[in-house]
Order: sequence, then structure tokens, then C-alpha cells
Amino acid sequence: MKHFDVIVIGGGHAGTEAAFAAARRGAHTALVTMRRETIGAMSCNPAMGGLGKGHLVREIDALDGVMGRAADASGIQYRLLNRSKGPAVQGPRVQIDRAVYRSYMQAAVNGQDGLVVIEGEVAGLLRQSNRITGVSLSRGTHLNCRAVIVTTGTFLNGVIHIGDKQQSGGRVGDQASTGLAGFLQDLGLSRGRLKTGTPPRLDGKTINWAKVEAQAGDERPVMLSFLNSSPDLRQVSCGITSTNDQTHDIVRKNIGLSAIYGGHIDGVGPRYCPSIEDKVVRFGDKPSHQVYLEPEGLDDTTVYPNGISTSLPAEVQLEYVQTIQGLEGVRILQPGYAIEYDYFDPRGLSGELAVLGQDGLYFAGQINGTTGYEEAAAQGMVAGLNAAAEALDLDRAAFSRSNSYIGVLVDDLTTRGVTEPYRMFTSRAEFRLSLRADNADQRLTSLGRSLGCVGDERWARYSQKKGQIIRGTELLRAATFSPKELAARHIHVSQDGQKRSVFSLLGLAGATGDQAVALCPQFLSIEAQAREQIAIEALYAPYCGRQSADVLALQKEEQQSIPSGFDYERLPGLSNELKTKLNLVRPSSLAQASRIEGMTPAALVLLLAHLRHRPRQRAAP
Ligand code: FAD
Repeated sequence: MKHFDVIVIGGGHAGTEAAFAAARRGAHTALVTMRRETIGAMSCNPAMGGLGKGHLVREIDALDGVMGRAADASGIQYRLLNRSKGPAVQGPRVQIDRAVYRSYMQAAVNGQDGLVVIEGEVAGLLRQSNRITGVSLSRGTHLNCRAVIVTTGTFLNGVIHIGDKQQSGGRVGDQASTGLAGFLQDLGLSRGRLKTGTPPRLDGKTINWAKVEAQAGDERPVMLSFLNSSPDLRQVSCGITSTNDQTHDIVRKNIGLSAIYGGHIDGVGPRYCPSIEDKVVRFGDKPSHQVYLEPEGLDDTTVYPNGISTSLPAEVQLEYVQTIQGLEGVRILQPGYAIEYDYFDPRGLSGELAVLGQDGLYFAGQINGTTGYEEAAAQGMVAGLNAAAEALDLDRAAFSRSNSYIGVLVDDLTTRGVTEPYRMFTSRAEFRLSLRADNADQRLTSLGRSLGCVGDERWARYSQKKGQIIRGTELLRAATFSPKELAARHIHVSQDGQKRSVFSLLGLAGATGDQAVALCPQFLSIEAQAREQIAIEALYAPYCGRQSADVLALQKEEQQSIPSGFDYERLPGLSNELKTKLNLVRPSSLAQASRIEGMTPAALVLLLAHLRHRPRQRAAP
């Protein structure tokens, strides 16, 4: 029987990132997936990044993950969302050429040392008492390992709905995973049903592009990977059109035929990503909704109409789509559909994404109730690093709410669970002023290096940039000017006689980069990328100071760990409701406990006092 350190089930976004991360840490890793040719497939929209999601991609990239580089290699239109707002809430986003993304991923998987791909369906897991020891394939082969990561996306008991027609499937063109779903259910894990949907795909040759508004990308594209500075591929425009009264009338008239509104689906869908049926029913007062026409590739005329996902019958889809300006003569290549699938309550996972009570088992991606490529890949990174740690007895990878969106994501999932498909937003991060997309490398690359997942090339690039940032910051802090000297240069600050550094002027007085150079000409010797980063740091420094106090308070709490077998039942004065919740979540730290819904300050004080005065356990003889 073949033996691996880590086996990853599923070659989607969580699975590939998990497999790369485990292999980069030195684990002999197998990626077992149903079809080799679908590694790197994007099931839904041909785009990567955006608000919150762009932050996650940058963090994955800072840890030397692959998603950002694959996105840049296949990027055909870049837009920095929220460009007019502060850098903390700006999100880099890119339209992707699907075929190029897929082939980049497949080449990367094939080229990764320590990683092999095995084509096949995992039908069950091998188990000895409470430890998972391998996987069994539907063709009868068994593979042994020390840790398994399940990243099966929308495939577990997946059912595709178009109108009142249903068929088993993981996504269109792929079979569902039922054997493994049954095995996981038998483990007694808490399971639920969620749903998501996708729009029809259009033949771009049949769109009247002259009748739709063209949306070009940014003049100065912002890359997703820190290693890249310009796009590889030719850049294209997207189109913008919109629905109208006639579209809505057709949807309204046929609403009972929709899988969602016809009562064929029980699973809960993403509220923030409504179908055209949802839009018409829930926002009936709106006369129109925008539809973005996104090309799926440079050599592919398929167009993804973002904003009209649906589970109406195919003939109704054609009828309503053809009411939209520019789409009057359009041909549908593939009807939209909804998919319902199993997920497992992520509160049954530790902060390392390990399944509680089952040694050697990890879950990552849509199986944990999330939606989106970036959320999946971020979890894959966490599970991959930690499964390798378990297999090879290395340091665990811990992410916190104060150092990353990855930490926010994992903490939200494992402590709060999900009631609908979870996606990342910047508003979910309490420390978003310091968790910016621009500084993800400053926050995470050295952590990644210490974990052994950051390679030499990235480390050299990062170290060079870091050196420049330190040098440039020193220069700006050392250059000081009195209010009078500043006034002579048209920079007005309070006339309090206090000298101010150029660094502080960039923040408080809002001085420009050009003014900084005029005041401190040596600053020009610093590389442009580092200068830009310093200017952003300076802008946020006054606010981050205040936020740092909060971070410190949290870190103080975070340092107070809670042993995994802590007995909440014996804690006097704790309500039964909180005992039940603590037993369910089993937080690994006080900070994690503090975020459990319903947790009170008094209960936290009680818990903290008990932890501090707990008698030390005697070492085993
Ligand atoms: P996936 O990318 O689904 O990958 C799962 C992988 O597991 C596949 O490679 C599959 O072959 C493999 N696999 C499954 N079972 C087995 C098994 N037993 N043995 C071996 N291999 C197995 N996201 C959004 O952000 N917005 C949207 O609007 C949106 N709409 C969507 C609509 C549809 C119809 C679908 C299908 C997905 C949609 N998504 C959307 C979700 C997005 O595609 C997923 O969030 C993302 O792909 C999840 O990544 P993953 O790695 O968890 O799973």
C-alpha cells in the first residue's frame, strides 16, 4: 500500500493550496481528485479578488501560496476596487482567462517537489480507533497517510437544479461525491445543506457590444502577487448592461418554476449574492439591476453575465436574458443552475481546521460552509500547513484576528459557525486599518519563512523590500522641521514650536509624497514600491497607534490558552447555556472564547480567574 505524509482530497481552490502548502513544508503529499483536467477549474465567475477577497489572496501570496501568481498569469482585466477610499478597504480584483488559470495551476502542481496527483474518487477514509490513517478509492485502492485534508467543495451529495429538473452532480459536468458524504455522515459530524447558483453562459459572438457600455480596466494595474509588477496577458474591457421592467415581468411570471421559489431547494443561499429571482422578489421596487458582461478568456468567446444567477427553466432563462439591452439576439451556451450540497458545521473544527475528536483529519473550503475561491484557498493554506505539522511533528501554524484576514476567517468559522454561505468582507475584521492588502507581506512573509513554506526567491525579494522600508522610514523620521520652516514650504501645522518629522507630516498633515521628497531628498534613493508602502504606513500610523492598544489587549487575552480537555462543567457560576456553548466550540484561547455568541464579561472573568489559579498538571512519569 502506498504511504504519504498528507493526502488532500479534491483539486479545487482549497485542495491545491493545501497540497502546495503541505509539500512546501516538506510533507510527501498526494492530491487525490476526481479529474486531473479540472484542477484549477473555476466553477463560477471568472474573477479573483475584490473587497476582503483580495486581502485573502495577498495573504496567501505572502505565505508563498500559488493563487496570486496564477491569477496574475491569467489576468485579463485589473481593477482596484474602492480606489477612491483609503488603502485599508481597497481590494485588488482581476478578471481571469479560465483556461490559462487552469493550465497554470496544473503545471504548478506537476512541478511542485514532494507532490503527486492521483486521479480517482475517494469513497471513504481508513480509520483506526480515533485516528484517520488513509483513504480508500472507489476503484478499491487504499492509500495510507498521517493526515487527510478533505476539500470537496460543492460535491458532497451535490444536486443540480434547473427549474423543476434535478440531477446529482458536483457542478455541471462533474459527478457528485456520495460515498465519501456517507462516510463523513457516519462519523457523527454535524451536517447541513447550503446552496449557491450560477448564471447562464452566453455566446459573446451573439452579443451586440455596440449597445452596451464598455468598462476598461485600470490604467495602472495593481497585481495580486507581490512578485509581479505588470500583467502577462493582453488586457480587455468588460461590458455593462442592465435588466429592465420586461426582464422582471418575465421572472415574476415564472417565479413558481424556479427551483428556489418552487420549493425544490431546502439549502440556504448566499444573501449578498442574490439570484435574479431574489432580486425581483426582494428588491421589487428597483426598476433595474446592473449586469456585468465578463469575458471568460482571450481565446474563448464565452461571456459570464455577472448579476443574473438563476435556477429558472432553460427556456425562461433565454426569454428574460433576451430582454436585456445588447442581449436581444444572444445565444445561451450553458443554462444557469443552482446547486445544493452538504457542508459540515465548522464549529466542529479547531483553529488549525482539524476535526475535533478525529486525529489526522482536516476540512477546508466550501465543505466548511464558505463560498468563494479565495476563502477556500485561505483555508487550504491553514489546513495544509497544519496537516504537514501533524505528519512531520513541526510547529503548528496559528493565525489570529490581529495578524490576518485568514485569522478572521478561521476564527469566525470555528467559533460562530455559519447560517448561510460565508464570504469575507473587510467589515468582518476589527483590525482592518492594519490588515491591509498592501502590507500582507509585511504581516505574514516572515511567519511563513519560519514555518518553512516561503521559498528563497520570495524571501530574497521580501528582505530587500523590508530593508528599503526600514531605511526609508528612518530617513523620514530623522528629517524634522519646525512649524515656521514648514509654513515657508506651504505646509501648515499648528504653530506650537514643536519640530515634526516628515514621516508624521505624511500622516497628520496629509503632506504628499512629492512634498516628502522635497523635504527629504535622500528619500528618492528608496525604491518606488517601498516609498509607496512607507507613505501608506505613515498615513495610518496615527490611527494604528490607537488600534494597537486594542490589539495588545487582545493579544494579552490570546496568550491565555485554554487546555483542550478543560472541564467547563466544574466551573461554578457559569450558566448551563454557556457551558453548552463552550463545550461545543472548545475554544483554544480566551480571546476565542470571548467571541462566542452570548459570552458575557462576567463569565470571561470567571474563566480567566479559574485558568490562572488552575493547579499545574503533574508530568506523566
Ligand atoms: P471546489 O473548487 O468545488 O473543488 C472541489 C474538488 O474536489 C473538485 O476538484 C472535485 O473534483 C474534488 N472532489 C470532490 N469530491 C471528491 C472525492 N470524493 N474524491 C476526489 N475528489 C473529489 N463562489 C463565489 O464566490 N460566488 C459565487 O457566486 C459562486 N457561485 C457558485 C455557483 C456554483 C454553481 C458553484 C458550483 C460554485 C459557486 N461558487 C461561487 C463557489 C466556488 O466555486 C467555490 O466556493 C470554490 O470553488 C470552492 O472551492 P473548494 O476548493 O472548496 O471546492
